[in-house]
Order: sequence, then C-alpha cells, then structure tokens
Amino acid sequence: MLITNKQIAIVGGGPGGLTLARLLQQRGANVNVYERDVNKDVRVQGATLDLHDDSGLLALQEAGLTDAFNANFRPGADKTRIVDKHATILYDDDTKENHETSRPEIDRGPLRKILLESLQPDTVVWDSYLLSLLPVGDGWKLDFQNGTSALADIVIAADGANSKIRPLITPIKPFYSGITVVEGKVYDSATTAPGIHTLLNGGKIFAISDEKTLIVSSKGDGSLVFYTGSKTDENWAHTSGIDFNDNAQVLAWFQREFAGWDSSWLELFEKADAPFIPRPQYCMPLDQHWNTLPNLTMLGDAAHLMPPYAGEGVNMAMLDALELSKCLTSSEFPDVQTAIAKYEKQMLVRFAEIGGITLEQTASLHSQNGLANMLSMFDK
Ligand SMILES: Cc1cc2nc3c(=O)[nH]c(=O)nc-3n(C[C@H](O)[C@H](O)[C@H](O)COP(=O)(O)OP(=O)(O)OC[C@H]3O[C@@H](n4cnc5c(N)ncnc54)[C@H](O)[C@@H]3O)c2cc1C
Repeated sequence: MLITNKQIAIVGGGPGGLTLARLLQQRGANVNVYERDVNKDVRVQGATLDLHDDSGLLALQEAGLTDAFNANFRPGADKTRIVDKHATILYDDDTKENHETSRPEIDRGPLRKILLESLQPDTVVWDSYLLSLLPVGDGWKLDFQNGTSALADIVIAADGANSKIRPLITPIKPFYSGITVVEGKVYDSATTAPGIHTLLNGGKIFAISDEKTLIVSSKGDGSLVFYTGSKTDENWAHTSGIDFNDNAQVLAWFQREFAGWDSSWLELFEKADAPFIPRPQYCMPLDQHWNTLPNLTMLGDAAHLMPPYAGEGVNMAMLDALELSKCLTSSEFPDVQTAIAKYEKQMLVRFAEIGGITLEQTASLHSQNGLANMLSMFDK
C-alpha cells in the first residue's frame, strides 16, 4: 500500500477530518488528527446537519458506522415548515401523511462523538492549534500554538473555512457571496422562547421574505439554533459597529433590517445566549484548480468553502474523505502524488457542480421570489 509506514497528519477534527481518520485507520494507516479544540468535551456549536444518501451517509456506511448513526440521528428533525415574514405557515411536512425521513438530521456533537469513538485511542491530539507547516526532508513539520510540534510524511488540511494550510497549496481565495449570516442559539427553547419553539415543532423553519431568510433548527439538547441571511457589504460585521455580544444591539439591528417582520421573531434575539456570530458567506471559485503537490492536500471547507443554502458542506467534506481514503489506499497508483491527483480531480469536478447549485440556491432564496422558489421545491 502506498501509505504503508507513512505517518499521516490530518489537521482539523471536524466531520471531514474525523471521517478520513476513521476510513484510513480501517485500512491500516498511521494517522493522527490535530485539533485546536482543547478536548473532546468542548460543546460543538452550530446548525444541525442533514446527511445525504450518496455522500455523508455513504461515507458513514463505508466507515462501518451506519448503526451508530441510526442510534443517534433525530427522527422527525428534518420536518420542515416554510413560512413568510408574518410566520404564516405555507408548507408543513407535519401535515403530510407518512412523512418519511429522507435526509436524516444529526447534531454536530453526536456526529463528532460517533466518529471519535470509532478511532483508536489517542488518534486525536487535542489543543493543537496549527500555526505553521514547514517542509522538512520529504515530509512536513507541524508547529502548534501550545509549543509542541510533530512530523508527518503526508499532511491533509481539514481545518475548515480559514484553513492555515490552503495557502501552501494554492493562492486562490474565496469570493464574498453577498450574503451575511448572523447566527444565534437559544438554550432550553421550550421555556426560553416558547413561541418559536411551538412553531418549530421539533423540526426546521425556513422563513423567507423581502430578499431575506431566517432559518431555525431544533437540536437534541433542547436548544435551537438560528441564522438570518441578508444582503450586506462584505465587511458589514465590522463596519456596522454592532456589538454582537449585546442582545439589545442585535435586536435593534434585526428590527431595522427585517422591518415589517412579525414581532414573534423577536424572542429569538431577546432570548439568545450571546454572542451572536456574524458570518459573511464566502465561496471558492467554481473553476479553481492547482498543481497537485507530492504529499499535501485538503478536503471539506478548506478546499471548497460554499454558503450553507444547499445543505451540502458537510456532505461534501465526508465524501471527500471517502474518496481520498480510497485513492491513498488503492494499488492503482504508482505514488502518493498520483493518488492525490486523482482525488483532487474528482473533488474539483464535483465542487464545480455542487458549488454552482449552491450559488444558484443562495441567490434564489434571497431574491424577490425567494419564498415562491422555496415552496416550489417542496411542493413537487
Ligand atoms: C450557519 C451554517 C449552517 C450550515 N448548515 C449546514 C447544513 O445544514 N448542511 C451541511 O451539509 N453543511 C452546513 N454548513 C456547512 C458545514 O458546517 C461545513 O461545510 C462543514 O462543517 C465542513 O466540514 P469540515 O470538516 O471541512 O470543516 P469544519 O467543520 O469547519 O471543521 C474544521 C475543524 O478544524 C479545526 N481547526 C480549524 N483551524 C485549525 C487549526 N489551525 N489547527 C487545528 N485545528 C483547526 C476546527 O476546530 C474544526 O474542528 C453550515 C455552515 C454554516 C456556517
């Protein structure tokens, strides 16, 4: 096998990096994952994830983790309500007979736990924030913020949107999509935000009007997460002067920016556990490409960051992991560089397609016809 006796370092223990570690370990590779979180118990924030049959679920199946997934996903959490700015329900999965879970939802925390528990002990080196990666001989030296360092023959960047490693592979930068998200969370939503909790009904809400979106998801721990989407300048989060630690300031912004939206939405902003996180949404150029390096590559958001509106980011990260693990452990290739080249070619072709769909979806939801466009997708 190409990677026999090679030390592989995966930087980033998100869904992409951990899936890759599992798949490589199954095939006998020597792998470590270097993750900046201080330990496995750090609360994993963020919106819930729906996994798709031909990508995220396929990777879990190949990783032998389908049973673990089935024990941890949340049946019914994919139930969708599409509403307008007045919170009037225009589409409701719950009224459809025999609603079937086609895209099962799992919270990020349980997904991370499943993947972590599938790894050999001490595979993940916590509290390892990568500061720099330097070529040493035929391999790499990784230097971490905590003063430690490590050596590896092959490095895979799975360190997400602001990858420290990507610039060593390509100078290509993401472009701003025009949409900025403001993300918030409400703990114990049944008592803290009962109005929205009731509307949420254990599933998801897509509120769309006036070229703006507000997406709310229930989580298994009784909390909810939400994110607004609106058209702003790229640097709005800084230039707006809003203190995102201050509920009153963010509430006032929502009332201005989403003027005319129903007052029932306000409890999200009043009751959220600050800080809110402003996230300008970037996308990598769809035609990006680079010359494959001998022993360094990337996957997931590091490789092909895109806005969240097609729900593909985590699925693509996990499919990258599957394809990269197959290439690195195949007997088809003469060397690691050729194996990586095959993986990168497939990954870039896929991203050109999925990224294009994602950008169309992003524009469609934030257009004057956003609500009608969303309804037409669900009413088929
Ligand atoms: C608001 C929002 C909603 C979303 N909704 C969905 C959805 O519904 N469905 C979907 O498929 N996708 C969704 N996404 C996208 C999805 O979250 C990402 O595409 C996915 O998490 C990418 O996985 P990854 O493993 O590549 O990177 P990440 O999940 O970002 O993981 C990167 C890991 O690397 C670690 N790390 C970062 N830098 C360093 C460093 N220097 N050293 C060491 N470790 C480091 C991080 O701590 C993290 O654990 C959403 C994104 C956002 C912002």
